[in-house]
Amino acid sequence: MKDNDFIPYGHQSISKEDIAAVVDSLQAEYLTQGPIVGSFEKAIANQVNSKYAIAVNNATSALHIACLALDVKEGDCVWTSPNTFIASANCARYCGAEVDFVDIDPRTYNLSAEKLEEKLISAKRLNTLPKVVIPVHFAGQSCDMEAIHRLSQEYGFAVIEDASHAIGGQYQDHPIGDCRYSDICVFSFHPVKIITSAEGGMALTNNANIARLLRTYANQGITKDPQYLIQNVGDWYYEQHTLGFNYRMTEMQAALGLSQLSRLDQFIEKRHQQFKSYEKLLKDFPITLPYQAEDTHSSLHLYPILLPEHNKAARKGVFEVLRHAGIGTQVHYIPVHTQPYYQALGFQLGDFPVAEDYYSRTLSLPLFADLTSAQQERVALILKHALIANRVMSA
Ligand SMILES: *Cc1c(COP(=O)(O)O)cnc(C)c1O
Repeated sequence: MKDNDFIPYGHQSISKEDIAAVVDSLQAEYLTQGPIVGSFEKAIANQVNSKYAIAVNNATSALHIACLALDVKEGDCVWTSPNTFIASANCARYCGAEVDFVDIDPRTYNLSAEKLEEKLISAKRLNTLPKVVIPVHFAGQSCDMEAIHRLSQEYGFAVIEDASHAIGGQYQDHPIGDCRYSDICVFSFHPVKIITSAEGGMALTNNANIARLLRTYANQGITKDPQYLIQNVGDWYYEQHTLGFNYRMTEMQAALGLSQLSRLDQFIEKRHQQFKSYEKLLKDFPITLPYQAEDTHSSLHLYPILLPEHNKAARKGVFEVLRHAGIGTQVHYIPVHTQPYYQALGFQLGDFPVAEDYYSRTLSLPLFADLTSAQQERVALILKHALIANRVMSA
């Protein structure tokens, strides 16, 4: 990528070693269901201190089998953040469950633990408590997992962390993915995320039974483990115990993911350097820069800025100036409950005002491992022009 080319908001970083690893995997005996997927799973489990890791074809599938493994079904309710990619909510709908949302914290833009508690208190009275809550570590910064875990104990729900943004991040000095405060944690390896396997996802857990269910649901509902077979008639034999899916990851994807994983710390370090550079470059701009909570070390997947409340009408104009100048800004996220599909289920504008207000004023600036300082300076310069042109800032 040259400095004056289009600068996307997120982009993969592919090395010669990554390419060699994928080529090698193509020349190996197995293209799928071979040893590399297992090695990738072990390496991720090692990296984040979880007991079990199940690789799948993308994080949406991982969220789906996570809901299935926790027995989410018709008549159940699953709560998540409105400030997320739609997959965090859709996974519950795949299982026939109802979805509801908990509004966000105005500083971290994460699902608010205080609002969760308020909602749980009234849900208990109404007998509408959730079966599962899915906190999303927005932009790579952990939610207040200690508080969410305490509430899960008190109100009896399970927790799936949607850590699609957050591999390589830490919470209270522990790696995100160790499932200390959750039943299952999910990573995405889509190219815009922290490390990539092209498409790919992983579900982590410390619970042996949940791990077995996750693996079964990802592989057609099949088991071959003699311990669980109803009868065992020979080596060819397998049994389908439930309705599962083909959500398997290929050897090529695992080879790329494994190779990328060796540079995870480097990627996070670069993102932190870029974060500091933006803080310097943008310090006199009348915008809110991303806040970092004390007990978190974010993977910094995204760099969302916020326009002032009284300038929210300028967001569209600022977005357009940036895009026309080749800066691939994006908006993360359109609140899920405002999507036509969720509106048809009864949600309305105004239901989650903090997420809606945040959405109306936010823009994500480019942030990815190979972003150069010259590119960051260009982003800052064009953002300044865009803010002046839209009267958010005076010349
Ligand atoms: C990207 C993303 C997903 C889905 O990941 P895929 O691997 O593309 O299926 C889910 N949740 C969040 C928060 C995401 O950002």
